[in-house]
Amino acid sequence: MNWIGWVILAGIVCETSIRVVADLLNLQRAGTVPKELQGLYSQEESQKAAAYLKARTAFGHIHSFFFLGLFLLFWFFKGFPIVDKLVTTTPLHPVWQGVFALFTLGAAKGLFDLPFSWYSTFVIEEGFGFNRTTKNTFITDRLKGLAIGILLGTPLLAGVLYFFHRFGPSGWIACWAVVVAYTTCANMLVPILILPLFNRYAPLPEGELKDRILDYAKRIQFPVKNIFLMDGSKRSSKANAFFIGTGRFRRIVLFDTLVDKQSHDEVMAVLAHEMGHAKCHHIKVNWLLSILHTGALFYLLSFCLEYLPLHHAFFMEETKIYTGLIFFSLLWTPVGLLLDLPIQALSRKHEFQADAFAAKTTGLGESLASSLKGLSKSSLANLSPHPFFVALNHSHPPVAQRIRRLQTLK
Ligand SMILES: [Zn+2]
Repeated sequence: MNWIGWVILAGIVCETSIRVVADLLNLQRAGTVPKELQGLYSQEESQKAAAYLKARTAFGHIHSFFFLGLFLLFWFFKGFPIVDKLVTTTPLHPVWQGVFALFTLGAAKGLFDLPFSWYSTFVIEEGFGFNRTTKNTFITDRLKGLAIGILLGTPLLAGVLYFFHRFGPSGWIACWAVVVAYTTCANMLVPILILPLFNRYAPLPEGELKDRILDYAKRIQFPVKNIFLMDGSKRSSKANAFFIGTGRFRRIVLFDTLVDKQSHDEVMAVLAHEMGHAKCHHIKVNWLLSILHTGALFYLLSFCLEYLPLHHAFFMEETKIYTGLIFFSLLWTPVGLLLDLPIQALSRKHEFQADAFAAKTTGLGESLASSLKGLSKSSLANLSPHPFFVALNHSHPPVAQRIRRLQTLK
């Protein structure tokens, strides 16, 4: 193995170690209750929440160590040149050979993940009383996911491989443009075409709640045509609300588990928070950032595709576009971890802003706080995650911090 191979290996080991350290620091905080949330959990719930965190952390480590071990074996036993040899014997065009190889490797990863996902759903989530997924739903979810992945992923992957095949490294500009256009269209169509395959979306029944939501949306000039109630209870007892899509494809979605468990004031406050993300331009900012991020990735990727030493690190004798994609993503692992820090920090800042927007425009700051408490309680959340763990993993600030901010807004 050459020096680039060692750099990549060191990067992967570093990234894994940093994540494990963050997890262990976080585990030490299990059971600590910040003063804003005193009394939220009973003694028994507090112990159960600590046990839940422990179980999920341990399970996450087992899953990732197993995968890392298998991946290293695949790498050092020259798995990449073996797969490449197999696909080059097919009579397919090089672009389709690449698509075929990437799907084969993706399918192998999917098969590896399957028992872990089963265990997580039917042993861990079930054990703590969250799971509502039947075995039937679990299996059909996987099959639908696979079909959609192939249907949506194939043209995208083939497009990227084709542009690099046709234009060499300068194909990155065409890739960038096409991927941005494709994902923007997909974002608009997914709520209408794909999500209904997984859940039932019924219009929110006429009544006080719907009237209040529509009145509020009108008052803050957030045009809404459709509010849907989703059968989130089909898979889990955890509750949520979101809105999705843009322009006339926009939909507000409430989980049935949210409407069942929370008061109308609380549901209103949660929705106002969600609309706040749009009104504070978070959606646009995130969209622009993701466009820049995608462009930067394709630009950097273009330097790696024809760089032979990178391929030698994985025992390949010549460069291939599809393996270049994989090797670049591995080289990128530690950089991705570093980039996560500002991305997650920005996301947490947006959450505070959306909370403030909701409190200001509805006057329901206290309901938002009680709703957040209720959501934490019903999902047995870790009430005081370690700051390092938060910096690395949390797109939302810890609930105690959000409540503290809401209290200062009064
Ligand atoms: Zn939010």
